[in-house]
Amino acid sequence: MPYVITEPCIGVKDKSCMTVCPVDCIYEGEDMLYIHPDECIDCGLCEPECPVTAIFVDSDVPQQWRDYVEKNAIESRQLSGSTIPMEAK
Ligand code: SF4
Ligand code: SF4
Repeated sequence: MPYVITEPCIGVKDKSCMTVCPVDCIYEGEDMLYIHPDECIDCGLCEPECPVTAIFVDSDVPQQWRDYVEKNAIESRQLSGSTIPMEAK
């Protein structure tokens, strides 16, 4: 199960998580960062690095932030250039 970045990252974006990720599967979006679910190896290294506790394994994402599971998948795929769903251009 991949890890997911949620709402607290918005506006913080200090990239501590990106620095420790061994497979570079964390991508920077406009407001926050996103984890690519197909590339994440579930190592858990990023989770304790986040100063605002924005990172959770997907099964533990708090109820109010469940939408971020899908958001991480969609946004990271677009940012990484892989499998772009419903290309809007
Ligand atoms: S769990 Fe590991 S592989 Fe997945 S985003 Fe975090 S640091 Fe990267
Ligand atoms: S460490 Fe946390 S706040 Fe910083 S960029 Fe990563 S998810 Fe966002």
